[in-house]
Amino acid sequence: MPITSVNPATGEEIKSFDELDGRQLDEKLELAAKTFREYRRTPLSERREKLLRAAEILDEEAGEFGRIITSEMGKTLASAEGEVHKCARGCRYYAETAQRFLADEEIELEGRAFVRYQPIGPILAVMPWNFPFWQVFRHAAPALMAGNVILLKHASNVPQCALAIEDVIRRAGFPEGAFQTLLVGSSRVAEIIEDERVRAVTLTGSEGAGKSVGSAAGKNIKKSVLELGGSDPFIVMPSADLDRAVSTAVTARTLNNGQSCINAKRIIVHQDVADEFTRRYVEQMQALKVGDPMQEETDMGPLAMPQILEDVDAQVRKSVEMGAKVLTGGKPVDGPGNFYPPTVLTDIPEDSPAYREEIFGPVASLFVVRDIDEAIRIANDSSFGLGSSAWTNDPEEQERFIDEIEAGMVYINKMTESTPEAPFGGVKNSGYGRELSHFGIHEFMNAKTVWIGDGGSAAGAVE
Ligand code: NAP
Repeated sequence: MPITSVNPATGEEIKSFDELDGRQLDEKLELAAKTFREYRRTPLSERREKLLRAAEILDEEAGEFGRIITSEMGKTLASAEGEVHKCARGCRYYAETAQRFLADEEIELEGRAFVRYQPIGPILAVMPWNFPFWQVFRHAAPALMAGNVILLKHASNVPQCALAIEDVIRRAGFPEGAFQTLLVGSSRVAEIIEDERVRAVTLTGSEGAGKSVGSAAGKNIKKSVLELGGSDPFIVMPSADLDRAVSTAVTARTLNNGQSCINAKRIIVHQDVADEFTRRYVEQMQALKVGDPMQEETDMGPLAMPQILEDVDAQVRKSVEMGAKVLTGGKPVDGPGNFYPPTVLTDIPEDSPAYREEIFGPVASLFVVRDIDEAIRIANDSSFGLGSSAWTNDPEEQERFIDEIEAGMVYINKMTESTPEAPFGGVKNSGYGRELSHFGIHEFMNAKTVWIGDGGSAAGAVE
């Protein structure tokens, strides 16, 4: 089946690519395996130089890459360019920190003992379209510094992004087999994981894809990292700075046209500030300008694919049928393109999609709670556990949120974000493993134990 770029703002086909056939795929896997044997021996200083060059290319050509991103998946041009610059920052961060993260770690034992971090081989990276550059670079920058090589299976709606990233890495001076794009559909992923030349897999995507990829990896005893969906809570308590909480809750829900894993999808507000918060929140959501993502004045572009528009619409309609109230939005925008307006739902029944599921579009589910106990109970009443954001200036409340929210990340008086310096990942059905920081770079390494003794007897050893 061809892999096709379609402009989500207009529905027009931009470009179509043939999928790799069996022989082409085999050649790429062979090249990855061969390149790994050589690349793993290259000095860190050489990898550093190339990654710094990749950062330069990204910064220099952010305008061009931004246009590719916007035309394929619909985020605003300004945010697309921002994403490319963020990738440059990520490359620089790992170029400068990898030596420290990968240094031998001494162990206190008789003789000399230490851990040496070594790369594990070709990694299959199955990536989503929503941050089509950043999701790839946040895996690729540390992995390349670590001496691994990468096979990118990008989402099928962003083939031009996938090819552009491959080109950046090649132009930066990395060998051809260090980073290859595989233009294949998701039905081929299990077969690639099974291939003995592939040593590990990382997936950023939906829960369903996580189940398939995780089980294929488990069946073949291969390391996997799963960064899956989320339905992050955004909690507002009476002591919060309401101005900042409201405007951040708007951005946190609508960023990336409402299609980020860490969007604040469930807004949980204390009853003492609920009326004021709701009035301002709805007003600010309504004020956002939805339209052509290439135009500077646009706040929110279209959803990335017609299927997403259908899914969001169905989730909202079902929630409303079950009793949820629409405070604003609630219906797709008429006309071409996959446009859905900023939407706020309240009075949300417990079994409705707005309560139980991830809604991957600009729909906020608003809950009013009596106290912090109820806020924490609702925050945790989700199968997901990715990020969370809690707004309070009370130190005891802050401590309770930090301790009791079941999530991979808790941000206090701050919007959840991913940044090269901090680990990123979830618990529960949001997946396992971490990307970014020293946790991320160590996920795909052999932590090899080395113990240099004096040749004495092993008498008394148990295992
Ligand atoms: P998706 O449909 O799961 O697709 C993600 C990637 O997985 C694509 O490359 C897709 O390929 C592939 N894929 C889909 N089904 C698969 C299967 N059964 N086996 C193997 N591969 C499969 O997700 P999406 O719609 O692109 O992205 C949205 C989801 O990603 C949301 O749930 C969001 O929360 C999550 N996400 C999580 C993070 C995080 O860091 N935790 C970050 C961003 C997004 P095709 O395109 O060819 O189908």
